[in-house]
Amino acid sequence: MREFDYIIVGGGCAGLSLAYELEINEKLKNKTLAIIEPRAEYKKDKTWSFWKVAAHNFDDCVKKNWENFSVNIPKKTNHLECKIYPYQSIDSGLFYEKINNKLKENNNISFFKDISEINSKNSFVFNSVPSIKKDYRNLWQHFCGVEIETQNNFFDDEIFNLMDFDCDQRESVHFFYTLPYTKTRALIETTWLSKMNDDSQKDYDTQIKDYIENHLNLKNYKIIYKEEGAIPLFYPTYEKEKNKINIGTAGGMTRLSTGYTFLNIQEHSKYICQNIENISNAKKFEISKKYQFLDDIFLRVLDKNPELMPNIFFKMFKSSPKTVIKFLSNKSNFLEDLFIVLKMPKLTFIKALFY
Ligand SMILES: Cc1cc2nc3c(=O)[nH]c(=O)nc-3n(C[C@H](O)[C@H](O)[C@H](O)COP(=O)(O)OP(=O)(O)OC[C@H]3O[C@@H](n4cnc5c(N)ncnc54)[C@H](O)[C@@H]3O)c2cc1C
Repeated sequence: MREFDYIIVGGGCAGLSLAYELEINEKLKNKTLAIIEPRAEYKKDKTWSFWKVAAHNFDDCVKKNWENFSVNIPKKTNHLECKIYPYQSIDSGLFYEKINNKLKENNNISFFKDISEINSKNSFVFNSVPSIKKDYRNLWQHFCGVEIETQNNFFDDEIFNLMDFDCDQRESVHFFYTLPYTKTRALIETTWLSKMNDDSQKDYDTQIKDYIENHLNLKNYKIIYKEEGAIPLFYPTYEKEKNKINIGTAGGMTRLSTGYTFLNIQEHSKYICQNIENISNAKKFEISKKYQFLDDIFLRVLDKNPELMPNIFFKMFKSSPKTVIKFLSNKSNFLEDLFIVLKMPKLTFIKALFY
């Protein structure tokens, strides 16, 4: 059986981002790489969006950039500007195509459907397949989105709506998210932050239909794409293994208070690439402990007081957009952290330390 210097288990966002980073930095000229990916074909299955607080390799896969966004609670809307850190949406179809075309140029890179097809005993493994058991004590961000097309101009494509809490909360945390790509096309997502122990929250199609037709008052549209997912708002746990690093969601790259993962994956890929020659001894790359601590408290508050969350999020976005974006994208300094923390209901957050 064939042996490889490196194995990437899972050719999704993190696996392919890492392979691409290694390839463009010529780290695979004299090394071999096997990518283990069971999917039969690559096609668009996700839209990755984030505030661009750091450079990445995929500007040519960006579907749209926005410099303005809004956050709503019933009867109140806050408009914010994000020119300094534009919000970007990446089309996963373009991302897969770009990377796979690049990787094809190097004969040292091979794809397999299952790890049992190769000898993995002496390889260094980058694993992006999380081992997560459904456990009703853990919180998830679960959602379903549809891209719709309207006959006439309907959307203001200069501004996206990050969170609209003006919807049924069902004793949980629920909001809609709208990304208008053009005046006639938009991705509209229903998003829940919950333990996923209530299947009644999963009537996503009905929620989206109701929101589009009765809240946005849009009757004439067609659905052209649909995506659904659940992001764990907890870190998968693993035994530490020599010659193995977890990447992507499996590697703790999700910011737990927001679900944002894409840019952290890119930074992790760059870090691995810079340290690839001595990767077994490189320090573990992780989201800073300060955010791990703050997100833990935030999620405890969310768990115990879901009814407070629309106001808490709304208040958070009353800070300067630059501060709140940096905070949510792991780029804030101490003063900016303090600014956000002081916007939170103090007693509720102090109590959460003792839950
Ligand atoms: C629908 C959706 C939308 C999201 N939107 C955003 C967003 O807007 N912004 C953001 O920052 N984050 C977003 N996320 C979170 C995160 O960025 C993505 O989940 C991202 O794809 C995580 O990358 P990954 O490589 O860890 O996982 P994946 O991209 O899921 O890759 C894992 C790969 O492993 C493969 N695999 C599965 N089982 C095996 C096996 N046994 N052996 C080998 N391979 C296997 C899968 O086929 C897959 O290709 C979203 C997540 C989802 C699900």
